[in-house]
Order: sequence, then structure tokens, then C-alpha cells
Amino acid sequence: MTSELTIGVLLVAWYLSVGLGVTVGYHRTLTHRSLELPNWFLYPLVFMGLGAGPPIPWVSNHRNHHAKTDTPEDPHAPGIHGFWFAHCGWYLGIRNRLACFLYAMAGPLRLLIDAACRPVYTTDSCSNTQDLKKFPFLVFISRRPGYILGVLIHTLPFVICLAFQNYFFLAIMWFTVVAMYNAGDAVNSVTHRWGGADFQTSDKSRNQFWVAMFSLGEGWHNSHHAFPSSARHGLAPGQLDLSWLFIRLLRRLKIASSVRQPNPKELNKRRLVA
Ligand SMILES: [Zn+2]
Ligand SMILES: [Zn+2]
Repeated sequence: MTSELTIGVLLVAWYLSVGLGVTVGYHRTLTHRSLELPNWFLYPLVFMGLGAGPPIPWVSNHRNHHAKTDTPEDPHAPGIHGFWFAHCGWYLGIRNRLACFLYAMAGPLRLLIDAACRPVYTTDSCSNTQDLKKFPFLVFISRRPGYILGVLIHTLPFVICLAFQNYFFLAIMWFTVVAMYNAGDAVNSVTHRWGGADFQTSDKSRNQFWVAMFSLGEGWHNSHHAFPSSARHGLAPGQLDLSWLFIRLLRRLKIASSVRQPNPKELNKRRLVA
């Protein structure tokens, strides 16, 4: 295998493992309980997604988003708070568009900024996550010391590149991390503003193909808001959902259980006729 091909395979594997940590670990398993995973699999999966922030506050924010979608109480509603705040400013409470843009482009530096500044788990601020208290590892990495320790482990590939002065690989990794972060951020900004709707919802959620491709299926956001407890987000015909394919594999391997999805009757009831 040529070195270029090896680098390409490593980057894709890294993108997928971090992405699935967020989409399947943080979002579909912890937030919506759309499937069950054993702790031996769930903990490493969630740890891979740690760049998205401390997991329990992430779950708390996302549950608030679903409870108050596109209202002033929504943590990130682009129609209310503006595109850049909804895209990434809300993590740190910054509204200046240039500051938001620089943060969006900060790549791996976001790990360090987040470790220092992102709100972490407290029982008061995350009162809607009582069900996650039973996971001691999640509580540990959601509090400041455990979160910082986890983030430092995530920075190791960049530190190694710097130590060996491999600036070419560092640049490729930087670009990959920027893509990873902004794919996730676009779910909160782009897919509450632009795209089509396949199902009836009371909010502005939209399905957006290119966001879905980069975010491993999360861009089918209108479908997700219509059926939030479904493990499958690509619910309309032709909606490729890579996270769902991964969940199906886990179910076949008997790692995932209690996988939830709507039945055809429920889908048809909410389906918008073109
Ligand atoms: Zn949403
Ligand atoms: Zn959700």
C-alpha cells in the first residue's frame, strides 16, 4: 500500500470513528435512547466523539433543542439567534460573526478552547439528564478534570505531527477536523434554515443532502424531528444514512439491541405529499 493510500484510509477511519461517536453514541443512543449498547462498546464510542464536547451537557442541550425547537428558548435556533450563533457561537456564548468564523476554522485548537471554556456537567445545569447518572464514566468525562484529560488524549495525533515536524500531515488533519466540526455545526444552523421537508413537523427543520453526507446521516434533520426516537434518520426514500448502516451492522453482530424506528403506518401519517 502506498503511503498516500495509507494516509487516506487512516483519515477516513478517523473521520468515521469520531463522527459515529457523536451520531450514534452521543445523539441516537444517549440523547434519544433509540438503541441500547453495552457499556464496553458505548464508552469507547462516546470517547471517540469527545471533540463534540462533554457528553452529558451535549445531551442536555440537545434535549432542550427538541423540547423548544426554533423558539427563543432553543439553545441554537438560526431563525431567532442568527446563523453564526446557531452554527457554533452558542457553544461559548459568542455572537460576534468574525469570532464565530475564526472559531469554526480553528480545527484542533477548538479542542483546547472547548476544554477551557465549554460549560461542563453539573446536576443543576443538566437536570434533564437524570437517566445518565448511572454511567460513571460519562459523568467523569463530563466534568472539567475528566473532560480536560480526555481532550488532551485527543490532541496526541497533532502533538505527534508537530514533534516529528510533519506539517503536511498536520495540514491534512487540520482540514479534516474543520470539516468534522462544521458538518456537525451545520446540523444546527443549515438544516434549520435551508432544504426540503419530507415529514410534517411544527418547526423549521429541513433535510439537506450534503449536510447528511458529511454528518453521516444527521442532515436528514426534518425526518429526525418528525421521528426523534427513531435510530434511523434517513426515513424517506433515497436518504443515505451512514450512521443507520452502522447501527444495522451492530444489531446484526448482536451488539445493539432495542433499536427503534417508526412503522410504515406512522411514516405515512406524517409524510408530506409533494
Ligand atoms: Zn434540530
Ligand atoms: Zn436529536
